[in-house]
Amino acid sequence: MISDNLAEVRQEIARHAALAGREPGEITLIAVSKTKPASMVVEAFEAGQTVFGENKVQEMCEKNEQLSDLPLSWHLIGHLQSNKAKKAVAVADMIHSVDSVSLAQTINKYAAAIGKVQDILLEINVAQEESKFGLTLSDAEAAVREIAGLPNVRLRGFMTVAPYTENAEENRGIFRSLRQLMVDINAKSIDNISMDVLSMGMSGDYGVAVEEGATHVRVGTFIFGRRDYNI
Ligand SMILES: *Cc1c(COP(=O)(O)O)cnc(C)c1O
Repeated sequence: MISDNLAEVRQEIARHAALAGREPGEITLIAVSKTKPASMVVEAFEAGQTVFGENKVQEMCEKNEQLSDLPLSWHLIGHLQSNKAKKAVAVADMIHSVDSVSLAQTINKYAAAIGKVQDILLEINVAQEESKFGLTLSDAEAAVREIAGLPNVRLRGFMTVAPYTENAEENRGIFRSLRQLMVDINAKSIDNISMDVLSMGMSGDYGVAVEEGATHVRVGTFIFGRRDYNI
């Protein structure tokens, strides 16, 4: 049952928050509904979940339209191509996967056109995996300084997709590095930059991510079950 799964994840978030001396209310659970039908989103909503994550713009827009009666918040967490930025800006409350200054500029342009200030995160490929998107830790500051000048995006913080692992402890150092990056850049007092969001942790490692300062965890499989990409 989705409601049982949600309750369990929320409980785990609270447990790990307590271990780190944090309040559970500091952490937003994003239910990642990609590949799952709108009916399952409704089921989660009925169990009190309002924030959902999708990694494709098209799928996010479709579910948003199907469920327009419900007060849902959509977060785009997957790679975004600039030719889909306009649609993403129309629907997403936060775009987690900004991996270049030029994409931020494109988002800024479309946000300006509809009078929106778009919340975004910079995606950082902390582990420098070839298969993943994102800036390196060392490229982050220069990108932040450029994005700071864009009036219609608000850079809220950083996102990372840590390596897949059976042992969440292996990703602790990655989460810690991302948090340190945010602390270090905030300390530089760059105009217009005051970041407070760390989007890190998935089904396999969100507990450790919470202990290391995650403000947003993105959990799919534990809530909705395994994804079948062959349907
Ligand atoms: C699919 C996805 C998730 C959720 O992964 P699970 O392991 O199913 O919890 C989180 N973040 C991103 C970027 C994803 O694409």
